[in-house]
Amino acid sequence: MEKTKIASLIERIGNLLRSEERASGADSGLQSVHVQILSYLYQCNRYSNTPAGVTEFIGSTKGTTSQSINILEKKGFIKKYIDDEDGRVIRLYLTEKGEDFIKKEFPPTDFCSALDTFSTKDSDYLSQLLTKLLVQLQLENKSKLFGVCHTCNHFKKFGLGDTHQCGLTLEPLSEKESFLICREHEQSTKKAV
Ligand code: SF4
Repeated sequence: MEKTKIASLIERIGNLLRSEERASGADSGLQSVHVQILSYLYQCNRYSNTPAGVTEFIGSTKGTTSQSINILEKKGFIKKYIDDEDGRVIRLYLTEKGEDFIKKEFPPTDFCSALDTFSTKDSDYLSQLLTKLLVQLQLENKSKLFGVCHTCNHFKKFGLGDTHQCGLTLEPLSEKESFLICREHEQSTKKAV
């Protein structure tokens, strides 16, 4: 019974978020999925800003994602670039217009107002519980985890002296980058720091 209740609560919250996203994008001719893509590109790291990363995160088909990306590009919210090292890979970046939009519209206003009624302690606890549920659900689904470096097996905190390092790519990671979501994330068995 508790499982049914939790699933319906999360479904209802998701529906309300989608509805707010639709309303926020309406003036710019954007659908909820377009707002979700902009939000993903705002939060993801440099290994994850590809059409494949967007497809996996949104849980949509390749074709639908591609159409949405083209619409966002046409409307000037994102730009596509060919990867410097691999000419087959397309990288997606928010334009100034895209970044301004997402900073203003996400998270949606009503959602923020509702969360403002929570104490910091309750918000933090809710975030921890939802993260735990999401990680477990993604593991069950065998989908990518899209976590941040601090909970990743590959993360080498201050691996390069003053700078962090990704143990997978061996590249440096700034403090800011280490809090962005990553499609290569591998859940750490160690406690998050
Ligand atoms: S440490 Fe993990 S989460 Fe961070 S960039 Fe590397 S693979 Fe991605």
